[in-house]
Amino acid sequence: MQGRSLGLVPTMGALHKGHLSLMQKARQQNDVLTVSIFVNPVQFGPHEDLEQYPRDMAGDIEKIEAVPVDILFNPGVKDIYPEGYSTYVEVERMSNALCGMYRPGHFKGVTTVVTKLFNIIRPTRAYFGQKDYQQSAIIRKLVKDLNMDIDLVVCPTIREPDGLAMSSRNSYLSPKQRDAAAVIYATLTLGKNLITEGHRDAKAVQEAMLENLKKEPLIEDIDYVAIVDTETLSPIEHISEQVLLAIAIRIGKTRLIDNIIV
Ligand code: AMP
Repeated sequence: MQGRSLGLVPTMGALHKGHLSLMQKARQQNDVLTVSIFVNPVQFGPHEDLEQYPRDMAGDIEKIEAVPVDILFNPGVKDIYPEGYSTYVEVERMSNALCGMYRPGHFKGVTTVVTKLFNIIRPTRAYFGQKDYQQSAIIRKLVKDLNMDIDLVVCPTIREPDGLAMSSRNSYLSPKQRDAAAVIYATLTLGKNLITEGHRDAKAVQEAMLENLKKEPLIEDIDYVAIVDTETLSPIEHISEQVLLAIAIRIGKTRLIDNIIV
């Protein structure tokens, strides 16, 4: 790039205001802005929503042009994983925590495709959302462990007016499920309030959060309500410094995640 900075925003498309906030930040901080759209099959489990995952290339291009973005990288699956492909990148331990317990192999797929995108595009800076906190923490570790010369920028979660984190998967929800989903952010806020009021026993805060989620009958499964270290993602017992509150639930077939740092 001969002295010019290059920003990269990796996405899976079906773009919403959360994605656009990353692009706007990257636009401000770089001379050239690339957005990738690639629904990465390797990060989906065999019974997950790869086939149904929302795709809207015409709408995405319109949104991207409005930013404006300089380069759209939209490879096909065979471009990224040609016949005989056999190399994977895995960040151990952190990839098995939280979502990794419920989506085995997911983060290995993420770190593999992100490494490939970094090698193909060679960005100065790459932008990720706090919405997928574990993903950004794992990529931070990947960049450090593999001596990648790339600055990571993690941007705040963009929410709907009732607090629901914007997500391409929200489009799966029926109107009733969509209303029920507001309980996720309400529960994170409840946990945050308990901690700011002085509660320090993580188990007690976690229990109160679980009880709150269970009040919502449309939630079919609670994968986890976790209070963990912001860097290592290991569970905390006594809250004495910054912690991550993280939730993953299922409403119908739709898996939703959210988190806040307290
Ligand atoms: P995805 O297309 O879901 O893979 O997301 C692409 C990037 O956008 C990831 O870094 C996400 O963390 C980020 N992102 C997704 N939703 C939001 C949101 N509501 N607020 C901020 N960033 C988001």
